[in-house]
Amino acid sequence: QVETLKAKLLEQAQEISRLRSELGGTDAEKHRDLLAAENERLRQEMKACEGELRELQRQQQAPCRDCPHLQENAELQEQLSQLQREAEETRAKLVELDLEVQQKTNRLAEVELRLKDSLAERAEEEERLSRRLRDSQETIASLKSQPQQIKYIIKTVEVESAKAKQALCETQSRNQYLLEQVGMQKQVLKEMEQQLQSSQKTEAQLRAQIMMYEAELERAHGQMLEEMQAMEEEKNHAIEEAFSRAQVEMKAVHENLAGVRTNLLTLQPALRTLTHDYNSLKRQVRDFPLLLQETLRSARAEISQAIEEVHSTNRELLRKYRRELQLRKKCHNELVRLKGNIRVFGRVRPITKEDGEGPEAANAVTFDADDDAVLHLLHKGKQVSFELDKVFPPQASQEEVFQEVQALVTSCIDGYNVCIFAYGQTGAGKTYTMEGTAANPGINQRALQLLFSEVRGKAADWDYAITVSAAEIYNEALRDLLGKEPQEKLEIKLCPDGSGQLYVPGLTEFRVQSVEDINKVFESGHIKRVTECTNLNEHSSRSHALLIVTVRGLDRSTGLRTTGKLNLVDLAGSERVGRSGAEGSRLREAQHINKSLSALGDVIYALRSRQGHVPFRNSKLTYLLQDSLSGDSKTLMMVQVSPAEKNTSETLCSLKFAERVRSVELGPVSRKAELGSWPSQEHLEVLKTGDSLGSSAPPGRGHASPSPGQLSSRSASIRRKLHTSG
Ligand code: ADP
Ligand code: MG
Repeated sequence: QVETLKAKLLEQAQEISRLRSELGGTDAEKHRDLLAAENERLRQEMKACEGELRELQRQQQAPCRDCPHLQENAELQEQLSQLQREAEETRAKLVELDLEVQQKTNRLAEVELRLKDSLAERAEEEERLSRRLRDSQETIASLKSQPQQIKYIIKTVEVESAKAKQALCETQSRNQYLLEQVGMQKQVLKEMEQQLQSSQKTEAQLRAQIMMYEAELERAHGQMLEEMQAMEEEKNHAIEEAFSRAQVEMKAVHENLAGVRTNLLTLQPALRTLTHDYNSLKRQVRDFPLLLQETLRSARAEISQAIEEVHSTNRELLRKYRRELQLRKKCHNELVRLKGNIRVFGRVRPITKEDGEGPEAANAVTFDADDDAVLHLLHKGKQVSFELDKVFPPQASQEEVFQEVQALVTSCIDGYNVCIFAYGQTGAGKTYTMEGTAANPGINQRALQLLFSEVRGKAADWDYAITVSAAEIYNEALRDLLGKEPQEKLEIKLCPDGSGQLYVPGLTEFRVQSVEDINKVFESGHIKRVTECTNLNEHSSRSHALLIVTVRGLDRSTGLRTTGKLNLVDLAGSERVGRSGAEGSRLREAQHINKSLSALGDVIYALRSRQGHVPFRNSKLTYLLQDSLSGDSKTLMMVQVSPAEKNTSETLCSLKFAERVRSVELGPVSRKAELGSWPSQEHLEVLKTGDSLGSSAPPGRGHASPSPGQLSSRSASIRRKLHTSG
């Protein structure tokens, strides 16, 4: 047992020594020292880095205050500060790790201390056990020598060996505990090693990061330096350029200055002359009002003299004008007297389609090449010649016809009454001559146009009012074509003022001032005739259509008033009734027409023969035109004839009527002139030397009777014929 115990003890001792060598704390301490040294080194490096950084920052801030790369710098600084923050964090981590290592080292030292204590305890225990072992061995040896004693001793040993066994057990459990402790410590150590390894790894990473940051810093620094250099170069370049430019400009400015200097030198004399001029002008301006007054005075005198002269010239002109007026009047009267105041024109229309074909439509009218007043008619194999005032052949235009008429129209402005009749059988061209077509207007429109232009030409001295009326005489009934009641029969009455003038109450009068107005008036007249008649042409050929234009004038300078009337009459067809064998209303119409046409012939005959009684009242037409036919009036008879063979007998009648009318002489022409409101001596003179007012007899009466020889036999026969046809 002792042997085994010894062996066990030895084993334990060996175990302990092994453990001691194993636990011997020196490695961990070495490790810790190494870590501490590493830490120290890192800290120093960090410090150096910070120093560098600060330096760099300072360098960055100092030269590039206005640099365009400030932005980039700021970014870099931002990065740097981030890196610094990261480094700071790493450093904090490092410090933490240091702290942990320190704690672990402390704990390790504690554990070592406890281990030392337990080892010391064990050594003491062993010492004690070996002492007891030795004592026991001595006791055994002594007992061997003394067998009783040995027995006793064995007994005690046996007793004591139980105790020893217990002690051993205790020691073993203690040993077990220590082993566990050691295992735990080993575990802790292993963990710490792992931690150390991880912290080393982190450290390596941090170092790599730091290196990276450093490299980046280096790069940024390099870039910054490059940029600074580039900027510096740019700056130098710009400065150089600006300098050279400034030099050039300076040169130019110098040149300009030199130019300005020379200009100044040349300007000085100019300025001197200008100043001189200015002074002289100033003097002139000072003298100007006086000069002006003087000039004005003389100008005024001149003007008043001129006005005086103009006045006297005007007076002279007025006197001459009046004399001329009288002369014109005289000449006109003379002309009328020479021509006769009834003029007869013939107009031959062309052969038309309506005339048909064959011998009936053959031309029966020829003209004299040398005399435009002669016309030959081939009637029943015999040629009959007629002399009128003028004959218009078929090819004569409306314009040509009007040229012969216009003198009459204008005399209306001078205060004469004028009648223009279109006479002839139906279809001979009466309406064509009076009205014409839209494209080729006849006398009516042209006369009015002429009146307007004449009146405009005299507007400086005269005020004129032109009015128009349109009437129709059908079956001896007078009707207003422009009135609101075209069917109403109008009466012809004596003026209540005792002037002996006639007027038609209710006859519409339109004041017209332009051709447009006239067109409107014609239009409305036409419309009335159209709307009430089924066949316009037929109706118009059986009625007399009258257009009555009244021209009232006032001479502003003399106060003289004139009134002229222009009667434009499209007579009803002159064909004889018996020929058509009409009955009933048609017959009545024809009778009325014949009656009125023969009344016209009678009136003209009576006038011509200066009879005491002129039968104006025998027809509405002559009664209505009484004023315009008698005395001072002028009459134009346009006898229309057809050249066709079949119309020769009617043509013959018409031409005979024309010839008869032509030979009639009216009394001396007198002008219908009245005194203005305030007659002056001058006006009286005009009137006295003029034609009518004081001297003329009532119209159509009181003239000396013509000698009976003046009546031609032909006229008498026509008159008879007219009477019989009536
Ligand atoms: P009236 O009025 O005498 O019955 P119109 O004037 O109606 O006759 O004329 C009858 C026809 O003859 C119309 O077609 C008209 O155009 C034509 N006519 C009359 N005179 C002429 C002329 N000078 N030139 C051309 N055509 C004419
Ligand atoms: Mg007609």
